[in-house]
Amino acid sequence: MFRGPVAEISLSAIGQNLQAIRKIVKNRPVIAVVKADAYGHGAVEVSKRLLKEGISYLAVAYINEAVELRDAGITVPIIVLFDTEDVKSIFDFNLMPVICDMDNALSLSRESKKRNIPLKVHVKVDTGMGRMGLHGNHIITDLMKISDMHGLEITGMLSHFSEADLSDRTYAKIQLERFNAIKEKISEKLKRRIFSHIANSAAILSFQEAHLDAVRPGLMLYGYSPFNYGTNPPLPPFAKGGQGGITHGINLIPAMSIKTRILCIRNVPSGTPISYGRTFITKRPSRIGVIPLGYADGYNRLFSNNAEVLVNRRRAPVAGRVCMDLTMIDLTDVKGAKEKDEVVIIGRQGNESIKAEELAFRSNTISYEILTTLGSRSKRTYVETH
Ligand SMILES: *Cc1c(COP(=O)(O)O)cnc(C)c1O
Repeated sequence: MFRGPVAEISLSAIGQNLQAIRKIVKNRPVIAVVKADAYGHGAVEVSKRLLKEGISYLAVAYINEAVELRDAGITVPIIVLFDTEDVKSIFDFNLMPVICDMDNALSLSRESKKRNIPLKVHVKVDTGMGRMGLHGNHIITDLMKISDMHGLEITGMLSHFSEADLSDRTYAKIQLERFNAIKEKISEKLKRRIFSHIANSAAILSFQEAHLDAVRPGLMLYGYSPFNYGTNPPLPPFAKGGQGGITHGINLIPAMSIKTRILCIRNVPSGTPISYGRTFITKRPSRIGVIPLGYADGYNRLFSNNAEVLVNRRRAPVAGRVCMDLTMIDLTDVKGAKEKDEVVIIGRQGNESIKAEELAFRSNTISYEILTTLGSRSKRTYVETH
């Protein structure tokens, strides 16, 4: 019996989120970011659904992720953001690498020569993220060298913003100016325009000038806005009236629900300590439920006495420390709760809902981490409703 959590993924929600993105970016091509197993949603299923919606490109972090998509019969161009080590696979699986330095470029060019097969590449320039990409004061000469290398055709240029939530756009503007300056110079030298992209979800939502020739959304596809409740708006997004950060009038639909079932329930007297370290002691005669979910399933130990789940359309608080495979919840105020009842960790029950942002806030992280950790350790099912 599979007792761990189930991740129910709504493919129709992902489809709708894509439509919402297209509307904002006026139908520019969308490079759908499906790295980290589509942020925990399952890269193959999500990609297949996005292809049905006519997506132009997919992007992954590492070559093995791209190979998984090719093995599933996906033939659309796949941009590999961070990995050029295995040059053979790039050719064998017809992938589109992102060149980050001259060594990358040389080894790809050598392989191209050996096979006598030309290769379309995108080149990354570092405009201030300080992570990967051509950098320093020789970016233009480097780009020209790459362009002159045997077999390599530069079909795209990209950069990445360092302000993931763009709550302050000052630095992003500098990055975009640098990017545009590089683009102009290189277009002049090569006497052609280069397809350019820089916008992540935050820039799609709040920085129209950065939409350029294509956009690269990840988080938004899965139904979340990257805007941080820590800054703006001031209330946590799950507080009354909050809708999960600024959504600029667009309606994103969270695609992932995480669910489990109550394993057992016990009635205990007042003064009963619950779980490791006795950090929770009942203050009244209580009904304590046990759920088959713990930190080994990605349910963070920081949720100890510090999160809620939904049972019978009501919120039930976590009672005591989260264990490796189990968590206790206080069901005293949840009328009619019984063993095997559905427990929603993320998702909706009636009028109540818990979003990834709420759990992110409680564990001092971002919704990206909540989705990838819970999503990757759950058994996934796919639905066409939302
Ligand atoms: C992850 C990633 C994205 C997508 O970012 P979101 O904030 O999820 O939209 C875009 N570009 C690059 C290079 C990335 O690594």
